[in-house]
Amino acid sequence: MQVFKFGGTSVGTPQRMKDVCNLITADGKPKIVVLSAMSGTTNSLVEAAEYLKIGNPEAAGNVINGLRRKYREHIPALYATEEMQVETRELLDNIFLELHDCRALKFSDAVEKDVLSKGEIMSTNMVTNYLRECGIKACLLHALDFMRKAKNGEPDMLYIREHINALLEEHAGYDIYITQGFICRNFDGEVDNLERGGSDYTATLVGAAIRSDEVQIWTDIDGMHNNDPRFVEGTTPVRQLNFEESAELAYFGAKILHPTCIQPARYMGVPVRLKNTMDPAAPGTIINNDMEPGTIKAVAAKDNITAIKIVSSRMLLASGFLCKIFSIFDRYKTSIDMIATSEVGVSLTIDNTSRLAAIVERLKKIGTVQVDNNMCIICVVGDLRSENTGFETVATEALRDVPLRMISYGGSNHNISFLVSMDDKKAALEALQKTLFGTK
Ligand code: ASP
Ligand code: MG
Repeated sequence: MQVFKFGGTSVGTPQRMKDVCNLITADGKPKIVVLSAMSGTTNSLVEAAEYLKIGNPEAAGNVINGLRRKYREHIPALYATEEMQVETRELLDNIFLELHDCRALKFSDAVEKDVLSKGEIMSTNMVTNYLRECGIKACLLHALDFMRKAKNGEPDMLYIREHINALLEEHAGYDIYITQGFICRNFDGEVDNLERGGSDYTATLVGAAIRSDEVQIWTDIDGMHNNDPRFVEGTTPVRQLNFEESAELAYFGAKILHPTCIQPARYMGVPVRLKNTMDPAAPGTIINNDMEPGTIKAVAAKDNITAIKIVSSRMLLASGFLCKIFSIFDRYKTSIDMIATSEVGVSLTIDNTSRLAAIVERLKKIGTVQVDNNMCIICVVGDLRSENTGFETVATEALRDVPLRMISYGGSNHNISFLVSMDDKKAALEALQKTLFGTK
């Protein structure tokens, strides 16, 4: 069975919801459909939760009422029959009552997560009811009944597999199974989520759990592009990516996929296809285990990077120097993205600067420290196995006029990363586009 996932924009209006329903029923094959909240909803719920957090339930109430008014308008636009309009209005009203009830509770993490979960609960109920009104056998599988995190805070694959397969067996014979993206339970059974944008992750977890033939992630752009269309003209969709290549791209800034979402699919070898809701016939991007030999696939950029250089003559011929440095970053739970070393110094980058001052203070005991803010990692992915000579040269040559602060190559077979100033980002992306893909 295939798994389809639609993001917030794809279910952002009643008409879009109808389009999604047409799309998922077109081939008549049963599938599991993972939905995000309607676009803007999770942001509003975050806003409401923030008001609750700072002790302003009245403002939270206003945000909730604003949302409720919008949802009320969607109902006559979505359903043709009075009966389904009444049923869905009641259902949504109950959810809004639950949201209002949260205002009386003592604010906690659990209350916040509960508030955030309502967007997906509403969108999935709305779409399921629409399908039923259209005479399609649709079943709503509640993500809170099978999506769960283990004690370590990561999705509990065994639990998910066991529970979703049991639910599918119990509800066999439906045409379409709808479920919520993003939301789950934690180890203690409280409502939790997979972080913002986490619906992609739900889709690949479900795909891996049921050993799906394919997971399709439907968004509003035409697959993963070979460069960032917001900065470079003439980017084109990449037809195929290896799992590793897509993981690098997602992590290093390609906004289209949630960075962790590729892991479960890669683990189970389930291909992931990125498709465009606005242009369903377009082939999109397929992500699988294949590796197109000798090809550079794409470029991505990650902003707001801080570079830290530690220079010490004591590093020369001494062992344990890197270990000391890493343990400082570890101590402050700050992860390192890029790293380059020489015999007397180390440069590395971080994107979370919340503990920077403390880190620098400790590093200064080891060597001379230089911090550069406003940097950007430009990541080039493709088949960069070392036996394939020349590819990294092309990328480096393309950047000959751009001041390069760091280069990292050889960490994997799939990428070479350059650290440049944010001021040079656009020029760097354009130069790479021109040289690697022949367009400006
Ligand atoms: N609705 C959630 C968000 O906006 C999850 C998602 O859309 O993937 O972050
Ligand atoms: Mg989203």
